[in-house]
Amino acid sequence: EMSIDKLIAKFKFMNILVVGAGLSGATIARELAEAGHSVHVIDRRDHVAGNAFDYTNEHGIRVHEYGPHLFHTNNKEVFEYLGKFTTWVPYRHKVKAQLEDGRHVTLPVNKETKEIVGEENVLDIFFRPYTKKMWGVELDELNPDIINRVPIRDDDNEYYFPNDEYQAMPKDGYTKMVENMLYHHNIRVETNTEYNYHMDSKYDHVFNSMPIDQWFDFKYGKLPYRSIRFETVHLPMTRALPTATVNFTHDGPKTRVTEWKNIPCHGDNKYITTLTFEEPCDYADNNFERYYQVKDRDGKNRELYEKYKNEIPENVTFIGRCGLYAYLDMHQAVNSALAIARKFLS
Ligand code: UDP
Repeated sequence: EMSIDKLIAKFKFMNILVVGAGLSGATIARELAEAGHSVHVIDRRDHVAGNAFDYTNEHGIRVHEYGPHLFHTNNKEVFEYLGKFTTWVPYRHKVKAQLEDGRHVTLPVNKETKEIVGEENVLDIFFRPYTKKMWGVELDELNPDIINRVPIRDDDNEYYFPNDEYQAMPKDGYTKMVENMLYHHNIRVETNTEYNYHMDSKYDHVFNSMPIDQWFDFKYGKLPYRSIRFETVHLPMTRALPTATVNFTHDGPKTRVTEWKNIPCHGDNKYITTLTFEEPCDYADNNFERYYQVKDRDGKNRELYEKYKNEIPENVTFIGRCGLYAYLDMHQAVNSALAIARKFLS
């Protein structure tokens, strides 16, 4: 039997710092707060929800500031976990590709799309130009995992995520959902607050979603990222696109456009529609905004990441896309954060 002193020492509530209020940070914060720990969440931006941040614009239309976020997963636990913080509205995302002649065909490439363009042309039409502008390198230089996110099909399925059981949007948006995650008496949130390494010593443990190479002052070199520049336009019409997103097959700089109103609960203005175009670039050309880590074919970037990872001190855990240097979808970010939180708590 443990003495009460030992019990108290063993179960002492901790002071925790979470750097970054995105999905990863919010999940960790929530789990630790529920377990009784005192959690301080900081974010350098003026809002929570990280790159999933959304807002309602002057036309009553919900826009995702950092590009379209569509929730899809086969992970029931994650779906139900987030369901504690939002009502889910079912939505199965559809995407069309616009051919050079203006015709729209289904993506991911299915039986019908293959019949229209010819199976032998699929890579050259849909993947090579898009991937070049998206990543700034040729298709063959990237890890195949990247384009395998959009697998070619033999059936007539028309959905962008054909195999995911749970597909939905948070009724009041991602920002509201993350705010709900962070709304807990053991969580204190400060936005507009830049992290600095002096903070670490004031806490029992730090969960950090900042870029791991930056934390180490880039001492082994920089981990590359792609970024996206967004261009949002408003058109005086009810509806402009056949689907919520249209991908471009041309080799111009833009990859795709999203018409927000075509997603449920994103507003219903009869007279005006808001569209956002995406133009990928190196993150150095976009204010060092990191969106996509680059999984190269030879795994060089991963090797560099591992060098940093080997030197992470005991009181620090890196989380999220930038901390783990991984192309995490939202459900993967939450799943990973739940696993990290549980391991920490046990
Ligand atoms: N991709 C492509 N053509 C497309 C759509 C995707 O070549 O029309 C490739 C491209 O390399 C892209 C990757 O598949 O980066 C993953 O696409 P996804 O739509 O999953 O990207 P995300 O939505 O995460 O930006």
